[in-house]
Amino acid sequence: MKAEHYVGGMFRSDGPAFPLLAPADGTELGTVPEATREVVDDAVAAARAALAGPWGRASAEERAVALRRVADGVQARFEEFVDAEAADTGKPRELAATVDVPRAVGNFRAYADLLYGRPERAYTTQIPGWSGGAGQALNYSVRRPLGVVAVISPWNLPLLLLTWKVAPALAAGNAVVAKPSEETPTTATLLAHVIAEAGLPDGVFNLVHGHGAGAAGEFLTGHPGVDAIAFTGESATGAAIMRNAADHVTPVSFELGGKNPALVFADADLDAAVEGTVRSSFTHSGQICLCTERVYVERPVYEEFVERLGARARALTGYGPMISAEHRDKVLSYYRLAREEGATVVAGGGTPEFGDARDGGYYVEPTVLTGLPETARTVREEIFGPVCHVAPFDGEDAALRLANDSPYGLAATVWTRDVSRAHRVAPRVEAGIVWVNCWNLRDLRTPFGGVKASGIGREGGEYSLDFFSEPVNVCIQI
Ligand code: NAD
Repeated sequence: MKAEHYVGGMFRSDGPAFPLLAPADGTELGTVPEATREVVDDAVAAARAALAGPWGRASAEERAVALRRVADGVQARFEEFVDAEAADTGKPRELAATVDVPRAVGNFRAYADLLYGRPERAYTTQIPGWSGGAGQALNYSVRRPLGVVAVISPWNLPLLLLTWKVAPALAAGNAVVAKPSEETPTTATLLAHVIAEAGLPDGVFNLVHGHGAGAAGEFLTGHPGVDAIAFTGESATGAAIMRNAADHVTPVSFELGGKNPALVFADADLDAAVEGTVRSSFTHSGQICLCTERVYVERPVYEEFVERLGARARALTGYGPMISAEHRDKVLSYYRLAREEGATVVAGGGTPEFGDARDGGYYVEPTVLTGLPETARTVREEIFGPVCHVAPFDGEDAALRLANDSPYGLAATVWTRDVSRAHRVAPRVEAGIVWVNCWNLRDLRTPFGGVKASGIGREGGEYSLDFFSEPVNVCIQI
């Protein structure tokens, strides 16, 4: 599948092309067109025009039917989506087939479900009330879409995170201009084909490819015709987008970076805590915003935990590469920095050698570190690779101080068999999501997002529908 823009119902590839490289072996997969300002202008204009057409008048039920057709279309081309996602990201095919693509289908179905059959719950409230001495009045509010929504998504879960925003934005009745990461354009292009085949009116979904700063991303987020921005990516990019959006006071929903802690108490099921941390630190080679990079272990079980986690990290096989040579170099620079800062490298710390085509790819070893002070950059900054630092703690209060001493606050994991402790500790962790004895167990209706530098707002279920629409109050004097 060739990466193309999709604007006003037409596929096009104008703009200079740049190469798309396979992270698994460094070979060229194809080229990607870089959207110029004109392409972005056309996409925003096409979205605006779509809102003035039948889509702007579609009922919640009609939109739900359209979302279901898109879900069915992705399902029908499941293998094509899996192949494209695995090629662009380098992630194991099995991961794309069990997480990325099924969740993309799930995103469209979940938001169709939320609309279908109960639009009144999502869209209207009625309150007979007072009108300041002028007699009785009936107030009711309807939810109106925001208009043209810009969706900007990252490379780590390209289709999953794109559809996580596109589905609720469409469910709420908006038109979308999406810009996927320049590193992973292919499944977004496939999605545009599915949406075209599903018969959504031209301009309801538009796709532009290209880079962020000084390019398509910036053109889109600073565009006066964009009514809202939903962004997932780095915190520094979020700050740049906010500055760019400030001139038009464009509302934002941000899902940003993390430096997520895990707290392992001495009463935890240690087998589960070790296996859970292997998953939470090393799934997709640590390139998930929810991955654990700081592990705090209660002192009586600290030595045993480190030894077991290190052994498991050394034994890992079949993992995928970093997304790019540049990102591999960034992760390796943190491996070097950790040594300079005085870390003990318990496992990994370098690049693997496979003796096959993968040696042309962008792999780094799963890495476990200990011995760093909490002030070390390796412990404070998001690395976004397969690496965690493990440190001991004494008691609940100390554990919480360590967990919360971070500019980020996305997700945390607590491992304990003490139910009271779980309830005491979880709400005191400064994070948007706290898992107890599990990791990345997600119900799409629950609130998702971060505190501090990890984001603004919540998405998921009706939280997303709330962001992508706003209430208009209608007041009728009786
Ligand atoms: P990134 O911020 O570099 O890029 C994300 C997207 O923003 C890309 O499409 C990029 O082209 C675009 N972009 C970059 N600069 C821009 C600008 N100035 N204006 C407009 N758009 C711009 O992030 P990434 O490297 O693709 O992804 C990794 C980051 O995403 C990590 O920090 C990770 O924690 C975060 N992330 C967060 C979540 C979450 O749900 N909180 C989920 C996944 C990833």
